[in-house]
Amino acid sequence: MKKFNSWVSQKTYVKNTVAIQGLGLFAKEPIKKGEKVVEMGGVEVDRNLAYHYDDVVGDYSVQIDENLFLVPTAKNKLQKDDRINHSCNPNLGFKGKRGLIAMRDIKENEELTFDYAMSISDPYYLVCKCKSSNCRKAVTGDDWRREDLHKKYKRYLSPYLAKKISKLSGI
Ligand SMILES: [Zn+2]
Repeated sequence: MKKFNSWVSQKTYVKNTVAIQGLGLFAKEPIKKGEKVVEMGGVEVDRNLAYHYDDVVGDYSVQIDENLFLVPTAKNKLQKDDRINHSCNPNLGFKGKRGLIAMRDIKENEELTFDYAMSISDPYYLVCKCKSSNCRKAVTGDDWRREDLHKKYKRYLSPYLAKKISKLSGI
């Protein structure tokens, strides 16, 4: 199994989040649009193992390809990048299969989030309480099919999903 170390910008910190729930990653200082914020780490596993670790460690897997997921393999291996919450109005997007960059300028103390629909195409369901005005109320494994999200996230989608979408639309 391949193992990747995570890298998280020094301009961030972890704290309890009121808006969503549990811990979240926040900006310690302003972050400029385009700036690299995270390189996600963990162990690369297939679907079956990912679901296993989701049960044992908690739901921290990130889908990075059709049948590839990044997971922390134990609670004591959780890193800052495992604390990034979903938002329907996110400020981070994918750059490469493990990287997250700022999609816009981010202010000090803003929570750092991405839209889980940028990377998930496996069956998934999460009730969303992100409270943004465009909140979808739920995140599902079929959201990647939504044209409004293709438009909104364009080049910020996980690379494997961007490919999958271009096949879907026959471009
Ligand atoms: Zn939401």
